[in-house]
Amino acid sequence: MNALRPMIIGNWKMHGDTAALAEALEVAAGITGAAIRVGICPPATLVHRMAQDVAGTKLEVGGQDCRAESSGAYTGDISAPMLRDAGGSLVILGHSERRSGYGETDALVSTKVEAAFAAGLEPIVCVGETLQQREAGQALDVVRGQILGSLPDTIVGKPLAVAYEPVWAIGTGLTPTVPEVEAVHVSIRGVLVEKFGQDGARIPILYGGSVKPSNAAELLAAREVGGALVGGASLKSADFLKIIQSVA
Ligand code: PEP
Repeated sequence: MNALRPMIIGNWKMHGDTAALAEALEVAAGITGAAIRVGICPPATLVHRMAQDVAGTKLEVGGQDCRAESSGAYTGDISAPMLRDAGGSLVILGHSERRSGYGETDALVSTKVEAAFAAGLEPIVCVGETLQQREAGQALDVVRGQILGSLPDTIVGKPLAVAYEPVWAIGTGLTPTVPEVEAVHVSIRGVLVEKFGQDGARIPILYGGSVKPSNAAELLAAREVGGALVGGASLKSADFLKIIQSVA
């Protein structure tokens, strides 16, 4: 773990109803220390209620996406100011499920990052290569391109995290080896510092992709890993708390 304050963020994806809010309350009750930042990004339907339920605790709440526009005729979408109004403080942007399922490009993600900043949300920008790209030896180049294309120049001085999520590791139970994770995270740090100078040195780089209680400690201890973005294992408070407790 590097010197930045570690962040452990749960991505509930399209899982959870009001009964699942009890899991968030259990997480909130289990994180009384200030050393680690912990957040949950539930489905949009639960953001407001979760934010109300955990108000006054250290648990942060966020969305899983937002539109770049603040309002308009965009049926089914939600905007960054709406997430903020609902009590969110974080937003995941550029998740591979949105890049592949909705054709989101780096340029679009960049406009969403701007929208998040304007609304007072902290974006968590996801990048990561496919298995085909990794096998072709392109992982570092792909991730470099995604970082350069998805982060606008205006990040300087703003709260922001990057999540390295190899697409082939998401929801598959597969994870890169620790040296493979370190190689990408060190490379991302280099790109961030090259583009943003000292501001780039302060951006947390989370690892995401099949993080679970059994592998969290070694992944979180890897060089330049500043926390984790956790999907499936964030749905149950017991598992998520074990991951949180794995931070050295
Ligand atoms: C994710 O989708 O952000 C993720 C990391 O999922 P999982 O932990 O289930 O692989």
